[in-house]
Amino acid sequence: MESILVRNLSIVITQDGRRRILKDADIYVEDGIILEVGTVKRSADIVLDGRGKAALPGLINTHTHIPMNLFRGVADDMKLFEWLNEKIWPMERKLTPDHVEKGSLLGMLEALRTGTTTIFDMYFFEERIAEAAERIGIRALLSSSIIDGETPETKNWREALNVAENFVKKWKGKSKRIIPSFGPHAPYTVGPEAMEATAEAASRYNVPVHIHLSEDSREVEQIKHTYGVGPIEYAEIHRVLDLKTIAAHVVWPSDEEIEILRRKKVLVSHNPVSNMKTAAGVAPIPKMLSHGVLIGLGTDGAASNNILDMPETMKLTALIHKAVNRDPTLIKAQDVIDMATINPAKAMNLEIGSIEVGKRADIVIIDLKKPWWRPIHSPISHLVYSFRSTDVTHVIVDGRLVIEEGHLKTMDENEIMENAEKAAMDLLERAGVRSFLSE
Ligand SMILES: [Zn+2]
Repeated sequence: MESILVRNLSIVITQDGRRRILKDADIYVEDGIILEVGTVKRSADIVLDGRGKAALPGLINTHTHIPMNLFRGVADDMKLFEWLNEKIWPMERKLTPDHVEKGSLLGMLEALRTGTTTIFDMYFFEERIAEAAERIGIRALLSSSIIDGETPETKNWREALNVAENFVKKWKGKSKRIIPSFGPHAPYTVGPEAMEATAEAASRYNVPVHIHLSEDSREVEQIKHTYGVGPIEYAEIHRVLDLKTIAAHVVWPSDEEIEILRRKKVLVSHNPVSNMKTAAGVAPIPKMLSHGVLIGLGTDGAASNNILDMPETMKLTALIHKAVNRDPTLIKAQDVIDMATINPAKAMNLEIGSIEVGKRADIVIIDLKKPWWRPIHSPISHLVYSFRSTDVTHVIVDGRLVIEEGHLKTMDENEIMENAEKAAMDLLERAGVRSFLSE
């Protein structure tokens, strides 16, 4: 693989143990690994000019449904049940692997261009998503969905678990960038037997589990009514928290459940934009943080966000908890950057999340020659409150230059967008859903 040298970076936000910020530093990358940070004497196959630029660890989007980019803007400002019944489910029922691939490439292109180098995804036809990730060059922790019922891919949970198991078997250790895993959808869609069988399979293969937990207050009521415990307790009882677990949303945990999340070292994926848009509520992140729960950030799918923009999610994370608690000292800028980089890397035991010698090289370079970056009194504050995703100029994933001067190097961007548009049109036609495109 080509070596890369980024020379004379004005700022390097390392996210190392001491959260050091370096001035006028170089970064040298070879064979996918960061070999030097500081003053580099050697040259490289690719030399980038870092003057007027900052480098930061690639952002990690810990919760998304990447193919749902095809649904962007089809159904907004609706009540949950109408949204699902009239729009999302009719479209999902008609999904083919081809739609999934085209939608995934669009979502991954969007992620990479906005500074995300790793996505944690949960969906159907995950095999096609893995292939798309391999081609485009993103890092991806991919969870094959398990649902107690029919999906576009399978008829029941046993079949879904079988598909997931084959997916994990095939991809485990196959690629440096793909981490296969199991995705038991949520307590209200996965019964006790399916939950335990999934936990057992994940522990047998020693891979992560990705689940939606306590997203909506009605979910909490329903699970309590059916099982006599809260959704997080339910997940614990059926052993899905014994593994490396990603719990998406966690808006309505009880105090006891917060303690479970801490004890089980669960990574909570906070999705503030999605939670606001679906009116799920505001997750008690300050409280969870003060209890030592590990927090990451996610965008959720494009049907409930509608953009996979991590810089936007970072800013909203810092703001929303200050506003609802009327306390400007809550959720500091550094906390937010940790959530977007090092926290999920640590939780999932991935060698990424910081710019340090020996780590895998996932690096984002941004242009500081923008009025909203000046004066640079605090790079950390600016990264949360002023950074715009369009400031991203270069993205390196696993030592490979994937975005150069703001555009994708590995595939044809226009083709990805055109193909996604065609796939979306085809899907809407099959599902009998209308949009601006069908007029
Ligand atoms: Zn979700």
